[in-house]
Amino acid sequence: MPLKSLTINGFKSFADKTTIEFTSGITGIVGPNGSGKSNITEAIRWVMGEQSAKSLRGAHMPDIIFAGSALRSALNRAEVTLTFDNSDQTLKTEQKAVEITRRLYRDGSSEFLFNHHHCRLRDITDLFVDSGLGKEAFAIISQGRVEQVFNSKPEDRRTIIEEAAGVFKYKQQKKQAENE
Ligand code: ATP
Ligand code: MG
Repeated sequence: MPLKSLTINGFKSFADKTTIEFTSGITGIVGPNGSGKSNITEAIRWVMGEQSAKSLRGAHMPDIIFAGSALRSALNRAEVTLTFDNSDQTLKTEQKAVEITRRLYRDGSSEFLFNHHHCRLRDITDLFVDSGLGKEAFAIISQGRVEQVFNSKPEDRRTIIEEAAGVFKYKQQKKQAENE
């Protein structure tokens, strides 16, 4: 299920609207220290539903909005859009083309969109369950994450294996049913 493009606007160091097109094969992103490479992977995790500001190297979620520089004033909104070719139905939707968007304003209000329609965070996270692509999945390995697996508690390591094996979805559904 190929990733098609990522558009970042007002997220961290990306003050201007920036689109990265992913063609077939491997995409490499290179640049000097501090140029924004990690910010790109964080934008991907964020649009996929990341809820922890700390894991995005901030104290509060609005810290991800462009904070201004010597030459530009701060922005009031961050927006990230990720598009997929879902012809092979890896994502839990019948739509062949999937576009997800997340927006956040300085006052903390936020919105998620699925193919241009407003939706809940849960609709976004449900899309990725058992796809091997969720924000916690090992499709995205940040700096330091490999050590984290080896040093993690057995229960946490089990969750990673369950997600990979496709059992995690059923455990999540059971937990939701118990809470309802
Ligand atoms: P390295 O090679 O060292 O890993 P990198 O290319 O991964 O570097 P990032 O960590 O993605 O770089 O980018 C860090 C830059 O992003 C810093 O210059 C930091 O000031 C900037 N930055 C982070 N948050 C914001 C924000 N909210 N507004 C503006 N700039 C930001
Ligand atoms: Mg980095």
